[in-house]
Amino acid sequence: MKHMQAKINFNAGPAALPPEVLHEAAKAVNKYKKTGFSILELPHRGPEFAEILEESKHLVKKLCKLDDNYEVLWLHGGGRQQFFMIPMNFLSQDGAAGYIDSGHWAEEAYQYATSYGNAQVLASSKKVNYTSLPEWPAKIPAKLAYLHLTTNNTIYGTQWGQTPDVKVPLIADMSSDIFSRKHDYSKYSMFYAAAQKNLGIAGLALAVIRKDMLKRSVRELPPMLSYAAQVKEGSILNTANVFGIYVSLLMLRWIDAKGIDSIEKENKAKAKLVYDTIDSSSIFTPYVKEKAHRSMMNVCFTAKTPEVEKRLLELCEENDIAGIKGHRSAGGFRVSLYNAISMEWVEQLVALMKAVS
Ligand SMILES: *Cc1c(COP(=O)(O)O)cnc(C)c1O
Repeated sequence: MKHMQAKINFNAGPAALPPEVLHEAAKAVNKYKKTGFSILELPHRGPEFAEILEESKHLVKKLCKLDDNYEVLWLHGGGRQQFFMIPMNFLSQDGAAGYIDSGHWAEEAYQYATSYGNAQVLASSKKVNYTSLPEWPAKIPAKLAYLHLTTNNTIYGTQWGQTPDVKVPLIADMSSDIFSRKHDYSKYSMFYAAAQKNLGIAGLALAVIRKDMLKRSVRELPPMLSYAAQVKEGSILNTANVFGIYVSLLMLRWIDAKGIDSIEKENKAKAKLVYDTIDSSSIFTPYVKEKAHRSMMNVCFTAKTPEVEKRLLELCEENDIAGIKGHRSAGGFRVSLYNAISMEWVEQLVALMKAVS
């Protein structure tokens, strides 16, 4: 299916959605199935939304190959709300939690946790401006309430491969690489993702949590901020984000129809094309030199001169390509290659990169 929109969108988030998903979402905004009204008006406790929730949960577990030991939650507040819900729920005032600091988001998650207990950075690549992944800590304290990891560093473009085994509960922020590759999700006691990158629209987060974690609550919390209470109410403790969850369901169906294997293959090929173009050029420099640390989702690079930088931005503007300017803290360019980005789009961008000289 072709996009109805006029521009190619490489933004890091909110990110491009597949044309099939946009089409279905637009249809539902006009009229949702046989209800006679819009999905925007759909009751969150009615049978139609119950079906949407049920199917979304089923598909998350199917795509992650997880059994009924895990609970699937849709929560308000995007990625950042998880930064504080995690320590609120699991880190007591006299407890300790470990953080692997591989970038801006990882560091922010750590900062939020310091208000609740003894949060510790066990490894960091801040000193090298996050141009590589930190070395995995040689020793992880046995008593940690959890170890927090960010699987893909959205701003600087690094990504962990398969995660090492650890003996403490492992919690991962997968906001920018969930469902982008084959991955062993059963290693995690919990993982979460803001929806606006690979999974739908902003304001919503997916959280998947192993049942034993629900018994580890360390303090009384307002129910909205308690995982156990949210699980008990099946993600409809208050009025759910019906439309956001529906768009995520459309994304999940789209991912499931393509299959994770073929998505991974495409994502690898897209990333290889952009990195090869940068590596073989004399005018662009990759932000991440170490190939094994490079992200398949966010490719960051700089131009060797301000003129080259300006020229590529102009060329993109002239050719209706948006969203390749780097994050304000990294500068240069960032090309986000989430699941919805087609190879055809990447080829068009690469042609412009080659045209700058
Ligand atoms: C985008 C992003 C977030 C923040 O999500 P918000 O919904 O804006 O709070 C958190 N973590 C990672 C890894 C991200 O890429």
